[in-house]
Amino acid sequence: MWACGEHQGPSCPLPAWGCGEGLHRVSGLAGDSSGGRKSPLAVPAPCLSPIPRCPAQSWGLQPYRAPMVELVPLLPPPLLTVLDLPGPLSTNKENIYFPLHFGTTNFVKRNLSGHSTHKSFQILSFILAVMCPSLSSAASYTDSSDDETSPRDKQQKNSKGSSDFCVKNIKQAEFGRREIEIAEQEMPALMALRKRAQGEKPLAGAKIVGCTHITAQTAVLMETLGALGAQCRWAACNIYSTLNEVAAALAESGFPVFAWKGESEDDFWWCIDRCVNVEGWQPNMILDDGGDLTHWIYKKYPNMFKKIKGIVEESVTGVHRLYQLSKAGKLCVPAMNVNDSVTKQKFDNLYCCRESILDGLKRTTDMMFGGKQVVVCGYGEVGKGCCAALKAMGSIVYVTEIDPICALQACMDGFRLVKLNEVIRQVDIVITCTGNKNVVTREHLDRMKNSCIVCNMGHSNTEIDVASLRTPELTWERVRSQVDHVIWPDGKRIVLLAEGRLLNLSCSTVPTFVLSITATTQALALIELYNAPEGRYKQDVYLLPKKMDEYVASLHLPTFDAHLTELTDEQAKYLGLNKNGPFKPNYYRCWLGAACSSLGGGGGGDTAAYICACVRISSKLSV
Ligand code: NAD
Repeated sequence: MWACGEHQGPSCPLPAWGCGEGLHRVSGLAGDSSGGRKSPLAVPAPCLSPIPRCPAQSWGLQPYRAPMVELVPLLPPPLLTVLDLPGPLSTNKENIYFPLHFGTTNFVKRNLSGHSTHKSFQILSFILAVMCPSLSSAASYTDSSDDETSPRDKQQKNSKGSSDFCVKNIKQAEFGRREIEIAEQEMPALMALRKRAQGEKPLAGAKIVGCTHITAQTAVLMETLGALGAQCRWAACNIYSTLNEVAAALAESGFPVFAWKGESEDDFWWCIDRCVNVEGWQPNMILDDGGDLTHWIYKKYPNMFKKIKGIVEESVTGVHRLYQLSKAGKLCVPAMNVNDSVTKQKFDNLYCCRESILDGLKRTTDMMFGGKQVVVCGYGEVGKGCCAALKAMGSIVYVTEIDPICALQACMDGFRLVKLNEVIRQVDIVITCTGNKNVVTREHLDRMKNSCIVCNMGHSNTEIDVASLRTPELTWERVRSQVDHVIWPDGKRIVLLAEGRLLNLSCSTVPTFVLSITATTQALALIELYNAPEGRYKQDVYLLPKKMDEYVASLHLPTFDAHLTELTDEQAKYLGLNKNGPFKPNYYRCWLGAACSSLGGGGGGDTAAYICACVRISSKLSV
């Protein structure tokens, strides 16, 4: 029994996984007390009874953070010297992949500017060949991976003879493995879970089908799930974001992965289908990002839900779809809304985008941000992160919003709240991050000034009406990877990034540490749903208990040598809190921005006592 349940006896194994006995009690299901009534938003009741302390330290968890010196040897020292690169700690693709991409013009341009491209390439090839035969030989795979043959048409086998995967080039596995190892250094909580898993397999028997971005960080999550006992099959949730070498490394180590960068729409669904439609294997858990996998199973294999114990969904968009299913009474298994966990919202959406928006724009356009006029559509978590980063760089930032609360927040943070129409002629950059569709229409695109950059940070490619640009009078010019100039008959051109798909995951990388937080939350949600006793979770959408959020955060604190203050007994009594948490009510997440508006609010049940007023108020206001 691994789920956080009611039992609190000494034999209960949960403290090894959850947040100690406190977690057992706190996660008592809110829905249980709803008298069977269906609530679109069921959250667990906060625990008011004393909970013994269960800090991460008490389990002997040590921060898993290798000092930089441990990582540097991953590259041969002479190479580091020649390239004058900081070493592989950065997850900047162009740098970190240099063994992979050193043969491409891009790499040479970016990292050896001033050298003759051809000469530099020769020098590098020579150095690699002499100093590091393994890198050198593997590096030669880069060229073959660039071939035009669709991975679907290739016969592929890993070194153990398995062909149950489809990736761009299995020979890139060695480089992918290095990236995964680097990501592990910045994912302390997952590594801690793995350490604890030795001998204990809370996901034994779990058959997880996943559809997420396939990056080194996802690979660390998948391998952690494997270490916890699960079998996984995986597809990408975005046609551009797969790191081919990481997919290859996963396939090489036996994970059935079906993904490559640059899939067509048809490939995308084919890959998902290959994960799901397998002889002799049926998933019993879903880990989704965006809802496409869930949608596919609903559409094609509805009977599969008989065996599925739950869905863990990461994105705003996917969660929105789940709530729609729930409201329509069509959700047939319990689902965990990971997106609205405080840790996820704060870190993945806000801090991650704060860092990666600049990276994505810089790599694709080399632009200077100071003094540029930027309009950011949507002031939720992602929008807040983008605005903060651009403001800090000296850009003049405008915000558009539909929700008066977020709009007011934008005003209080010093941004001009406008309608897109009012500024569309003057801005240099348009960024969408609403999770909505047709936010930037053809009319807006027609009115933009010459050289305006248009990009999207939201999950799906529907925010900018890119399809409307595919008309005969407009010319498309691919000027760089993921950068298109769309040219009007009068010569005006706009710069469209990643064809309107999610910019940071298509054109840059995102900080591993924030993804560690999300991935840990996903792993805990899977453990909880998989191990929950029958009847605890109904066919509804649930938020993770606050205590689990706090647990995820606590697993990451040692990285910073952070020293948490403990409540005194007197203070705990004064605040009406247990000394060991949870420290905030469940509705605390609502103060983070617009997240609540996506939750639907309302709901019936007695447990609605713990569904904060602000969920209802915010959702009503935003209707
Ligand atoms: P959110 O719900 O907190 O914010 C979205 C905001 O957009 C809300 O405040 C909403 O009121 C506003 N909005 C909706 N329609 C609008 C419109 N037509 N015009 C202006 N504003 C509008 O969601 P979030 O956490 O900020 O996520 C936004 C999107 O970004 C989602 O699709 C999510 O999946 C995605 N996301 C991307 C990343 C990334 O790394 N790029 C990370 C997390 C989430």
